[in-house]
This record gives sequence, structure tokens and C-alpha cells, in this order.
Amino acid sequence: MKSKLKIAIFSLTSCSGCQMEVVNLGGKFLDILKYIKVENFPLVKEKKNVKKYDVVFIEGSPVTKKNIKELKKIRKKTKFLIALGTCACLGCVQKMKNYRNKDEVIKNVYQFVKKIDNFEIKPLKDYVTIDFELSGCPINKNEFYWAICQLLAGKIPKISQRPVCYECQLEENECLLQKGQVCLGPLILGGCEAVCLKSKQSCDGCRGFLKDAKIENYIKIFKKQGIDKKDFEESLEIFGLK
Ligand code: SF4
Ligand code: SF4
Ligand code: SF4
Repeated sequence: MKSKLKIAIFSLTSCSGCQMEVVNLGGKFLDILKYIKVENFPLVKEKKNVKKYDVVFIEGSPVTKKNIKELKKIRKKTKFLIALGTCACLGCVQKMKNYRNKDEVIKNVYQFVKKIDNFEIKPLKDYVTIDFELSGCPINKNEFYWAICQLLAGKIPKISQRPVCYECQLEENECLLQKGQVCLGPLILGGCEAVCLKSKQSCDGCRGFLKDAKIENYIKIFKKQGIDKKDFEESLEIFGLK
């Protein structure tokens, strides 16, 4: 019998929401345990001194020296490294700090803590080689499942470069952009099943830009709709797209 794929799921600094989505797969996750061996998943059970993995998923951003050291150590131990969620792929909400005066923020938030690390928030790919990115805040658990199935079939997962609008319009949602609201859907990588639009919330771009996002064209559209450029720029700050 073919040996099971040895995987691990780790987290750096994050809210753990993407790992929770993996757990939320419930019975589906238990089903794939026939084919994979979860060697390490500290959220559920930590195992020390594992030497090698086939696939590692890492959630979160490196915000301390310890996080960076951990990330580099994990990279050496795995054949295939996947950035899990927008913190890992882009920096996500933690990256908002980069758009502010960081010294001022630290002074106000940690006024009684001396010598705190104050790193620029960067995606994992700025520190180590990443083999695949699964973005989303949080990730789409069905997409995680699909990615594991692709790997089990010996394929490298590849996400179709379709905008959020594609799934939004398949659902026949009312277009918020046409109503004069900022919605980043035309610029953003789909795959989330346009979940925000189902609840009549605009897309703030948590999955990151499409490879060929036509930002200039988008700006022309929203100018026509009378949308303020400032509102657009503020939307870009939420998930670290600015
Ligand atoms: S991407 Fe979002 S849900 Fe996932 S860990 Fe980061 S903040 Fe949490
Ligand atoms: S509401 Fe947003 S995601 Fe949906 S079609 Fe309009 S611009 Fe695209
Ligand atoms: S609609 Fe936009 S903000 Fe909402 S989950 Fe999808 S990509 Fe993220």
C-alpha cells in the first residue's frame, strides 16, 4: 500500500481562524485521514522532533524573530510548503500597522512594555520559498479539502484566475458596484463562493488581487459611479492590498 502523505499544520501570529476552518471540515477531514497522516497540528495535538514532512500548511504572519526562525526551520523540514490564509499570503489585517506611524502605535498600545519587536508585516514568501498559496480570511474550507485531494492525486493545485464577480453573478446577487458602493470584486481572486455578497456585504478583497487585475480600468468605473477614491484606498488597507 502507498504510504500516507505526511502533513502538518502550523501557525505563526494569527487569530487561528484558518486552522479552525480546517477543523470545521468535520467528517470530511476525518475521511481524508485514510490517505494522510497528520504528523503535527499544535492546535489539536503537538508532536516534538518530527524530522520530515511531505506537506506543511502555515497560517499567520511572522511578527517576531521567533516566528521567522520557526518559519525557516519548517521550510527545511518539508518538501511542499503552503501559505494558509491571507495573513500568510499577504499580511492581512496585521499589515494595517504598515500604513500607520508604527512607533506612535507601539507607544500607545504597549506603553508599559519595553523593547518590543516592531517588524514590518510581510507575507511568508518574503522570507522563504512558498510552493502554493491558499488565501482568504478565513480560507474556504472546501478549497483546503480540494487542495489536499489535488496533492493526493499527485497534482500541484492551481486556482483559476477568475474574479469574485464570476461567482457573485452565478448566484445572481445584486451588483453593489453598480449601485455606487465600493466593491473590489472585479479585482479579486475568486474561490470564496462570493460569500460576502450573499450577505449583501461588499468584497473587501481578502483573497488578494487577481494576477492581471486591471486596477486602472476599475478606477475609471468607480469614478463614473461617483465613488470617492479615498473610500477605495481605505478598502485596500483592510487586508493589506494597498
Ligand atoms: S487569514 Fe484571517 S482568519 Fe486566517 S488567521 Fe489570518 S486573520 Fe485569522
Ligand atoms: S457586487 Fe461586487 S462582486 Fe458582485 S458583481 Fe458587483 S462588483 Fe462584482
Ligand atoms: S467576497 Fe471578497 S472579502 Fe468576501 S470572502 Fe470573498 S474575497 Fe474575501
